[in-house]
Amino acid sequence: MIKSLSPEIASIVLSNIKDGIMVTDPNNEIVFVNKAFSKVTGYSEQEVVGCNPNLLNSGRHDEQFFTEMWNTLDKTGHWKGEIWDKRKNGDVYLEFLSISAIKNSEGKIEHFVAVFTDINEKRKAEQQLDRAALYDVLTDLPNRVQTIHYLQNKLIISRREHKLLAVIMLDLDDFKSTNDKFGHDLGDRLLIVIAQRLQRLIRSTDMVGRLGGDEFAIILSDLNNFDEVEQMTSRINSLVASSIMVDGKKYKLTTSLGITLFPFDDSDAEMLLRHADQAMYKAKDNGKNQCHLFDVEKDQQAQTRRELLQELSSALKNDELVLFYQPKVNMRTGSFIGVEALIRWQHPEKGLIGPGHFLPHVEYHDLIIEIGEWVIRKALTQLAFWLANGLRITVSVNISARQILQHDFVSLLKEILSEFPEIPLELLELEILESAALENTDHVARVIEQCRKIGIHFALDDFGTGYASLSYLRDIPADVLKIDQSFVFNLLEKRKDLALVEGIIGLATAFQRTVIAEGIEKTEQGVLLMRLGCDLGQGFGIAKPMPADNILVWAGNYQPDQEWSIWADTSWEISDFPLLVAQHDHINWVRNVLLYIEGKTNSVNQKILVNHHECRFGHWYYDYGMQRYKHIETFLEIEPIHISIHHLGYQIVKLCDGGNERQAKEKASILLQLKDQILEKLAALQKKVVSSQ
Ligand code: C2E
Ligand code: MG
Ligand code: MG
Repeated sequence: MIKSLSPEIASIVLSNIKDGIMVTDPNNEIVFVNKAFSKVTGYSEQEVVGCNPNLLNSGRHDEQFFTEMWNTLDKTGHWKGEIWDKRKNGDVYLEFLSISAIKNSEGKIEHFVAVFTDINEKRKAEQQLDRAALYDVLTDLPNRVQTIHYLQNKLIISRREHKLLAVIMLDLDDFKSTNDKFGHDLGDRLLIVIAQRLQRLIRSTDMVGRLGGDEFAIILSDLNNFDEVEQMTSRINSLVASSIMVDGKKYKLTTSLGITLFPFDDSDAEMLLRHADQAMYKAKDNGKNQCHLFDVEKDQQAQTRRELLQELSSALKNDELVLFYQPKVNMRTGSFIGVEALIRWQHPEKGLIGPGHFLPHVEYHDLIIEIGEWVIRKALTQLAFWLANGLRITVSVNISARQILQHDFVSLLKEILSEFPEIPLELLELEILESAALENTDHVARVIEQCRKIGIHFALDDFGTGYASLSYLRDIPADVLKIDQSFVFNLLEKRKDLALVEGIIGLATAFQRTVIAEGIEKTEQGVLLMRLGCDLGQGFGIAKPMPADNILVWAGNYQPDQEWSIWADTSWEISDFPLLVAQHDHINWVRNVLLYIEGKTNSVNQKILVNHHECRFGHWYYDYGMQRYKHIETFLEIEPIHISIHHLGYQIVKLCDGGNERQAKEKASILLQLKDQILEKLAALQKKVVSSQ
């Protein structure tokens, strides 16, 4: 063990040590410095011996700093910490300093020994590392981390001060090919120029960051209106577009910009950047060199769809989906022929949801295939139950386009059917939208053919909406055409729809297909359809879709519409149909006046009230009716009653307007009598017309 060092050895140690050493006496005069001291500070031993160490003072520390240092030294005999000193050449540097007071045997301070390490370089390196974590090395712009940090702070302020904030994402167009063509060095230099230009462009309250590659984000805060954003984007565009000179060569760039605006887009910082990014990609998709604003509403829709998809998927697993069944009848024979299975979602909180609210959102997702499979299995289970209970009907199941396009659709169907050996296959009918079949004619035709081979029929649903051509009908071997309800709704009112329905029925006959109409709500629609050659129908006028459990009871109580039975054996001339329609118009007119008395409508046309030629019934009577039936007395007897009914209707409306509702109601009973008189006359006329054919 070395007890003490000889002066020679001590001197060698001191001069070779890497740390700077300075020894002062109690008067704070330097008495010794080593070589390392001179190397760090630039002062030689001769220059500093006898001087006060404050010749190294950088001026960066205040008096309090030194007072505390001396206090600690007095108390403990030691002090250590970081301190900024100044070299002889004036450079300020950071050192780690440790001072010890050396006392003699009587405890009196004889010397202070200061040992220091120059940590300037180390600190610089640390700072550079810190900076690299927040700043982009190439352009010196804030990087993604720092940009998000900045945006978070700005969002807090914008929210508090109710200010508009814009996040603009900028991406250079075709920069990859510029890089590939001219090399990465040049690419880097172009990026630096763009970064500098952007930085010059923005206001002091804004910031520009580089998120990576050729992608920059610009955050504009404290905005008053969207005009300011537009001005900025057009300036960015022209600024990027103005040519860049590098090494005497000119380069031209364009940029795609995506923007999102807070508070319209009320998202957090990361999400705002993502939205601006999505908008920027949209700008690229739209042909580059342009600007696109993020569509908050659309995004929310997409989000809602994603959520719905998840919810629906668990609904399927949790048995929340149910099938309702809507009866289909033969109007001429009055028989109940089958049901259509229609899906619903029995939502635990929202109640019963119709397919229109959820199916379109999953139409392009595989979930529709899973649901479709469930529907077939469920409908067959139900059919097996009905068969076991003596009800033999067909069950129609709707098949989505995606489902039928599955390569294994037919084999899967066969597999499911094999689970129900008791079901005669002809009792299952599949419905596919005409439009879906049209888009994939060959495939659908093949599937239909394969299904027909095992005895399963297909119906083309919503027929008439898909613009099927004759050749298409020839190629698609569907057995049933289901006339779309939109044409049936307006059958009585719109001549064009009547013509279309007539055309579809004609097509069905020509191609030997069965035809059925959906959306029958009124008796007259059914009569007209039967007359046109369509005896099968489905619609609220017959029955609304109902839970499976109600079908057996409904079938037991079903009473076919009497009007249909009356006209079942008669064949109407198509030209006499307006007579049937006139009756319907007349009933509607009277109903409207009655609603007016009850305050449930205020749409009574005064002009029509006073002029009996102007109502729809009047139009028919004085035009078509007069031409065809003026030789029949019953027809002529209708006119005076019709005129009276208009007078009375006018009086009633006036009484209501004058606040005399009681009197108006009294007159209403006479109105109803007159209505019945007209209906009687019309019925007599109809009988005469039919019997004279
Ligand atoms: P669709 O197959 O054409 O079914 C007829 C739709 O019209 C049903 O609506 C039915 O309730 C409605 N409807 C029937 N008669 C009348 C009427 O007289 N008046 C009115 N206003 N509407 C009537 P729903 O149940 O809302 O179904 C809508 C559509 O959703 C269906 O049209 C079908 O395309 C689809 N859909 C229903 N269930 C399923 C399913 O299980 N799978 C698939 N892929 N699609 C389904
Ligand atoms: Mg259908
Ligand atoms: Mg339909």
